[in-house]
Amino acid sequence: MPPEKLLQSVWLHQRIHRDQLKTADGQNLRVLHPGFASAEGGPDFRGAVLQFANEPPVSGDVEIDLQSAGWHAHRHDQNPNFKNVILHVVWDEVLSSRSKVPSRPPQLALKRFLDAPLAELALALENESGLPENLRGKCSAPLRDLAAPQLAELLHAAAKVRFQNKAEAILARARNSGWEQALWENLFRALGYKHNVWPMQNLAETKSRWTRGAHGDRVASTTFEIQARLLGVSGLLPDDLTRAQKSSDTFLRRAWDVWWRDRDEFESCILPREVWKFHGLRPANHPQRRLALASHWLASENLVAKIGDWAVAIPGAPASCRPVGDSRRQDASAPGDKAGDKWLDSLHEIFQVERDEFWSWHWTFKSARLAKPQPLLGTARVTDLAVNVVLPWLWVRAREGGNEQLQREVERRFFAWPAAEDNSVLKLARQRLLGTSQARVLKGAAQQQGLMQIIRDFCEHSNAVCADCRFPDLVRGWTTTEKMPPEGRGAGEA
Ligand code: SF4
Repeated sequence: MPPEKLLQSVWLHQRIHRDQLKTADGQNLRVLHPGFASAEGGPDFRGAVLQFANEPPVSGDVEIDLQSAGWHAHRHDQNPNFKNVILHVVWDEVLSSRSKVPSRPPQLALKRFLDAPLAELALALENESGLPENLRGKCSAPLRDLAAPQLAELLHAAAKVRFQNKAEAILARARNSGWEQALWENLFRALGYKHNVWPMQNLAETKSRWTRGAHGDRVASTTFEIQARLLGVSGLLPDDLTRAQKSSDTFLRRAWDVWWRDRDEFESCILPREVWKFHGLRPANHPQRRLALASHWLASENLVAKIGDWAVAIPGAPASCRPVGDSRRQDASAPGDKAGDKWLDSLHEIFQVERDEFWSWHWTFKSARLAKPQPLLGTARVTDLAVNVVLPWLWVRAREGGNEQLQREVERRFFAWPAAEDNSVLKLARQRLLGTSQARVLKGAAQQQGLMQIIRDFCEHSNAVCADCRFPDLVRGWTTTEKMPPEGRGAGEA
């Protein structure tokens, strides 16, 4: 039996007799696109485009298993992440499944269709990584034809759209709840990353209740009290001691000493534990640890003022001193600008927590005490906070206050900000659109944001074979003076 990884590679590179494919139940099969390898769990390939018999082409996921029994053995049939699987690719179907009775999802046995002996394929595919050239997007060729400054301008325009969309969303919230509350909600959302955005938002929405009490008479005064209350209302304060980690149990006893007195008062704010997602989370990103960080921010009381001061500070960036009306373009992308690193460092200082007596030494309640203290916030997360929350918040607040100079300064910082941590979405986008897996092709966080806006505005409205996508034409007609068309703007933009 070959390794499953080899089967995945055979499928991705389509090293099969593509004109002879038949499913186990006898349907002709055309693969219009094998889909994109998934790095996030769930089915192995997302967004494949397949045609069964004479039916219209369909888009969906493809799961690869060695044996057809894997579908039930791995409980894919009960897993909602697998509900969009349209083809189960296996090495060899079991004899009983070679019948004309349709199986759901249909099965394809690769063994019968390889275009070369398995050993030969293993050698040929051994060093292949990333997306094969023939699976790149239709915009890849016109993007390659752009000169470097044109490509930079295109990404700059897309990044600006994304930045302004975020700012408008913050403004909408600020109109309802005030600038400070809008900031807190977005900081909490950012702490939830992609898995726990909504419970974090929910906690931020009820913040004034659980920090002060319904009548303002139950103010939590220390970081520890805020932390215990936050863990309590989040539903993430464990009911039981670990009985294995002494320091964790000491912390839990102290936290419960605080929370049992508060619980009734804040009952209406308590979230059920089920709303949190833990699957695939790194311990450093566990929501308990993120809430501990938030408790320090809340206890510091002047975080919002510090952010305001940071916006007008000039850490080693003489260009930001330019007077209003300076005609030199200030929002031009300046990736690699050392000022970007300084702004990152100075913002990191504001958000970093000196030391937490428990969380600096533990990833989770169950983990053993660490040999060395670990920071509660790394620079990668500061970049996420900057480009998604702090800079759009400062920018739109400056705009609403008529402060053009500050607006330009914030925009300048956004376009000079160092690149964020790479992720699977960016990686695939670079391969599909820019034809490279190298992260350094995107210079700075704004270019990454620009690429993500293109995915959102174009890729997410098309499919793996780029059906009806207008972006390639837009790229062909792109000149440095052009702006993104209305359909190239995100929702909410006029
Ligand atoms: S869908 Fe459009 S933007 Fe996305 S890869 Fe295809 S051509 Fe490019």
